[in-house]
Amino acid sequence: MGGPARYNHGAPHRYLLKPYAPVLALRGCPNRCTFCDSSAFACSTPLRVRRPRKVVEEVRYLQARYGVREIQFAEPLFNWNRDWVLEMCDRLGRLHEPVAWSCHVRMDSLDEELLGRMVQAGCWNILFGVESTNVDVLNAANKPLDIPQVFHLVKAASRMGCQTTASFVFGLPLSTEKTIRQTIEDAIYMEPDYAQFFLHKSVSGEPMHEGDRVLSGFEVRANEIPGRLYLPKGIASAEQLRELQREAYRRFYLRPNYILRRTRSLLKPGQIARLFDGVSRLGGLLKP
Ligand code: SF4
Repeated sequence: MGGPARYNHGAPHRYLLKPYAPVLALRGCPNRCTFCDSSAFACSTPLRVRRPRKVVEEVRYLQARYGVREIQFAEPLFNWNRDWVLEMCDRLGRLHEPVAWSCHVRMDSLDEELLGRMVQAGCWNILFGVESTNVDVLNAANKPLDIPQVFHLVKAASRMGCQTTASFVFGLPLSTEKTIRQTIEDAIYMEPDYAQFFLHKSVSGEPMHEGDRVLSGFEVRANEIPGRLYLPKGIASAEQLRELQREAYRRFYLRPNYILRRTRSLLKPGQIARLFDGVSRLGGLLKP
């Protein structure tokens, strides 16, 4: 028998302080984006939301019992309701021992004032679900977003000192090489600290558009969720989609400006180990 399993800390940009712990403040999502598991499972797991007081009691317990210094709110959508988020911020901001926290947001239910309250209450890291910057693709995915507002909020969060990750999905219905290339350009121009580019996996009950296909037996990479690949009519093959994904990672992370920005951040303590971890993960994503 070997020794105890090594704890996998996840991607280095996902945490700031150790020890950290995940907390689930709600289950499910009130939205119905066509490509998302949370939407597909909505019938079996309806939205269940915990009271902010109970969530913050759990945070206090984790601090006292395990010395936890950071909380990762693990639900796919934290800002499901503005008043609920404000109450969470009030309570988290009043903790005797401040806690750093991170969360995932949907951009059409976010505004600059709410963002400011979240950052004041200790939120240091936000994942923004952008998916695409093409309006038709977003509408077909039942996730209409105001793209100028998306740019504005990502930049506002950065100005407030919050780390930003923008998440994109390639292969949504109506997407083509052109819309994906535009999304890559926009991801670069948006300037989040990190970007992730997923391939669209078909989810149960998702409406199929005419001419679109679903491929089984698609080879998945480490850290990728297994599943059947959704290929929209405008994309010729899985290989084309994979190549666009590689191009996105290459163009986003291997820009001289970006490398310079990240190099400057190495001046902060503990960043060199993170950099090596990040570079080895990027190497995996760029492999042919
Ligand atoms: S993508 Fe986000 S907002 Fe849309 S259904 Fe999934 S969790 Fe909800």
